[in-house]
Amino acid sequence: MPELPDLLHVVSRLRERLIGREAVSERVKEPVVLRFTVRGNLSLLLGRTLGDVFRKSHFVVFRFEGFDLAVNPMLAGRFRFSEAGKKDEAALAFALGFSDVKGGPPAVELRYVDDKTMGKAYLIANDDWKAIPGMQTGGVDILSREFTAERFCSLLKHRRDQVRVFLLDKRALDSIGNAYADEILFEARIHPKTFCRKLSHDDGLRLHAAIVKVMQDAAAEVAARDEPIEVKVRDFLSVRGRDGQPCPVCGTTIRAVRVGDGDACFCPTCQPATRSLFVDWSKLPRG
Ligand SMILES: [Zn+2]
Repeated sequence: MPELPDLLHVVSRLRERLIGREAVSERVKEPVVLRFTVRGNLSLLLGRTLGDVFRKSHFVVFRFEGFDLAVNPMLAGRFRFSEAGKKDEAALAFALGFSDVKGGPPAVELRYVDDKTMGKAYLIANDDWKAIPGMQTGGVDILSREFTAERFCSLLKHRRDQVRVFLLDKRALDSIGNAYADEILFEARIHPKTFCRKLSHDDGLRLHAAIVKVMQDAAAEVAARDEPIEVKVRDFLSVRGRDGQPCPVCGTTIRAVRVGDGDACFCPTCQPATRSLFVDWSKLPRG
């Protein structure tokens, strides 16, 4: 899925290009990705001006007067800008054309492409979030002010699963995907298979700090690179997708290991399975 740093960049570019523009055309190639909780179809948006674009959980929400179009790109969905009329139909699910002047011809087409057709786009009445499965997951938004070290440690304390499985649980944390789960655990020097109950309070604090740092740094990097919105920038990551290559910190070969339903990339030296390399400073006698 696009992860939060990607979504932030996409939303910022969508806002720049489309807010204030009127939707003047629509095309649907893969109806399976569309869900309507209102009577009608995408043509309901025609003639309406896009008032806002924002992220809500892992959805990108296009706010029109009366309706919100909320898109969850899931694994493979991407947005792409195309000049109106330009043929580039590969993996197209649906498209909305926008005019630059009120009542004018489409100047740019926003295309949603999804070669796995796993993503979902919901057309709902404004703010009818409860109509969307998975929108209100209950997880704490890791980019919000509510995501404090205290809140994170109290979530962690009640978990019986492995730390990487916990990081990916959208009912707890909103939200971290496979790529950044690996980067966060590398930053915190924690082995991905470690059970949450084995982590000390200091580990929890370090893990919280790693989430904040990795996400902020990645968001800044993705924004600075300013690639087209359909491009996922991943080449700056330290361990994800780098199994078989040397660790950027210690040179040990990065490995991939199965954790839960997915594969994790990690450095066996920086993230040892045993906890013996970690010194619990709070337990040392005070000099
Ligand atoms: Zn290393």
